[in-house]
Amino acid sequence: MKIGFIGLGNMGGGMAANLAKAGHEVHAFDLSGEALAKAGAAGCHPVSDAADAVKHMEAVVTMLPAGKHVRSVYANDVVINAGPGTLVLDCSTIDVDSARDVAEMAKAKGILPVDAPVSGGIAAANAGTLTFMVGGSEEAFKRAEPILSDMGKAVIHAGDSGAGQAAKICNNMLLGASMIATCETFKMAEKLGLNLQTFYDISSKASGQNWSMTSYCPVPGVGPQSPADNGYTGGFAAALMLKDLRLAMEAAASAGAEVPMGAAAAKLYEQYAETNEQGGMDFSGIINMLGNS
Ligand code: NAD
Repeated sequence: MKIGFIGLGNMGGGMAANLAKAGHEVHAFDLSGEALAKAGAAGCHPVSDAADAVKHMEAVVTMLPAGKHVRSVYANDVVINAGPGTLVLDCSTIDVDSARDVAEMAKAKGILPVDAPVSGGIAAANAGTLTFMVGGSEEAFKRAEPILSDMGKAVIHAGDSGAGQAAKICNNMLLGASMIATCETFKMAEKLGLNLQTFYDISSKASGQNWSMTSYCPVPGVGPQSPADNGYTGGFAAALMLKDLRLAMEAAASAGAEVPMGAAAAKLYEQYAETNEQGGMDFSGIINMLGNS
């Protein structure tokens, strides 16, 4: 299949390479010459103009930093150059309103849009094991599924346009809050004189059990191997968690949802990520800021 790919950064680079590996003809564009060269080495056809990653393509994937980039690329490159019936897949994490707006722009031109944000980081993008949460019509989802499957291990239809982004930020708000709750609980257990491995053995089999504890334990040496065992590096950056929590706060305000725990998590990640360049640390590193006084 002829697929255009715009945005070949940390995530998009590996995803475009996996599409090429699956046998697609991938016309890849990025503003960065270095990213373009890497995509060329990974089997894609680098193009020097975004229009060439859209014209005559059956599908176009975008993987860009934020909503403003997606709005601009859709308005200036994608919607203008894509023919009717082209499938467009935005895999970036952006606000729900932008996702719905660009989908409307596309639909008005007879283009089939899906928002398909991902769960999983750079390692999963490289390995082709991402999980995609997809918003769009039944027809668009049916066409998107095989393409997304070439880059991931799970592709789930969340609902109509914007539903993929909604599912992603709801999930990450829950993750941010549960990570903080897990961190402060281990700190308190320590202050109460509990052995942390013993507390893990109990709580991981009791009602406090949660993913942040049993799959991604923020305490070094406890639970399975995690970024905590690697100096809080190599996982999901605190700056990206903060980005997702801010998107969640925007969405909550726009939907009129009360989210006191999510709001507290957003505040604490702001405090953590915006101090001493900790935004680059794994998000479980917030344990080092909590429960110390
Ligand atoms: P990145 O900054 O590494 O890559 C973005 C790329 O987009 C860059 O190479 C940049 O040059 C390119 N770009 C920006 N504007 C462009 C334009 N107008 N035309 C063409 N290229 C343009 O970011 P990333 O880590 O790959 O993340 C991409 C998206 O995936 C973000 O929305 C992020 O929130 C989401 N995400 C990231 C992770 C992660 O672990 N990195 C995990 C899940 C989701």
